Amino acid sequence: MTSTERSIAAAEAHSAHNYHPLPVVVAYAEGAWMTDVEGRRYLDMLAGYSALNFGHGNRRLINAAKAQLDRVTLTSRAFHHDRFAEFCTELAALCGKEMVLPMNTGAEAVETAVKTARKWGYRVKGVPDGRAKIVVAANNFHGRTTTIVSFSTDEEARADFGPYTPGFEIVPYGDLAALEAALDDDTVAVLLEPIQGEAGVLVPPAGYLPGVRRLTAERGVLFIADEIQSGLGRTGRTFACDHEDVVPDVYVLGKALGGGVVPVSAVVANRDILGVYRPGEHGSTFGGNPLACAVALEVVAMLKSGEFQQRATELGEHLHHELNLLVGGGAVEAVRGRGLWAGVDIAPSHGTGRQISERLMERRVLVKDTHGSTIRIAPPLVISKEDLDWGLDQLRSVLGG
Ligand code: PLP
Repeated sequence: MTSTERSIAAAEAHSAHNYHPLPVVVAYAEGAWMTDVEGRRYLDMLAGYSALNFGHGNRRLINAAKAQLDRVTLTSRAFHHDRFAEFCTELAALCGKEMVLPMNTGAEAVETAVKTARKWGYRVKGVPDGRAKIVVAANNFHGRTTTIVSFSTDEEARADFGPYTPGFEIVPYGDLAALEAALDDDTVAVLLEPIQGEAGVLVPPAGYLPGVRRLTAERGVLFIADEIQSGLGRTGRTFACDHEDVVPDVYVLGKALGGGVVPVSAVVANRDILGVYRPGEHGSTFGGNPLACAVALEVVAMLKSGEFQQRATELGEHLHHELNLLVGGGAVEAVRGRGLWAGVDIAPSHGTGRQISERLMERRVLVKDTHGSTIRIAPPLVISKEDLDWGLDQLRSVLGG
């Protein structure tokens, strides 16, 4: 048995099978490259589902974490700590908002946004108790909690986890008329991904996000943008909403906010929204801890320079140009995305997304399939053009382009 086989067998024996990882066991990673337990190197074209926008082992982030590790890592929110105010101030400024509510995982931040919208609905909008409604989109992915899977349209994610949380209405993504029809006096929020990541990097039609902004503003409904996967540089702008000059009421952030080092998520909004909370109404032991704040502060500082957004724009144009050349060649049916982020639909005759991912792995490129026939490409934004081109060469070889 190889080290890889031993490791996978042990994981299979002693962990729940809620994932189906590619058969590679990573031991080390730097920049856009990962090395497995056998010493083989792979180009990471997934970047932890965009949690690793700044690459593996980013020195600025690792140094920020190491310095904080030697000072204080956790206080709980029972006390103040000296990184908290700075983190909240800087993140709020990056978002052009006034307040931050820090959590840890993406799902927790989405839950927090849902709770915030409901509380705002009852306390500010005046919705009768127990009636608050949140409108969401079909094919959404917002996380895995029982409430969040309650409004998923993915049976795999949802089945056998009921009873489900009421209070959500699902409308087709990209359809403004359907969204408008769903808004009623009890609607407190519209919750959307500005680009649907897990659904296959689905970019809504031009004008959709501005339309959602206009309708929600007219109807006194909060627009919550889940930028957990799309935000923080991935699409070439700080937020995917920026491409259409849309400013939502609430940003939900996660993944890259922790730089791939620690889980950090947050809900960011103005005082008229996040100001609804009183002590004891919501919280998290680890939310906003000193280590998380130190790393996330560095992430915010890096994003303020615009350097990573610029890279995502330039390399993204190149990526999409090259991928689009494959469309119509037989193996690739469609390519979507923005910035350094693409969903590539594989023709069934050429294999499933999983099979293509396995063939790419044999060529030392790591991507992941989604929804059967799509592969998702989202390398760290620090990838070099040469490495990206090499990865594209492997993709062309696998797809016979
Ligand atoms: N929201 C979006 C848009 C996501 O892509 C994800 C994760 O893929 C989540 C929420 C959930 O984040 P987490 O896995 O950190 O709970």
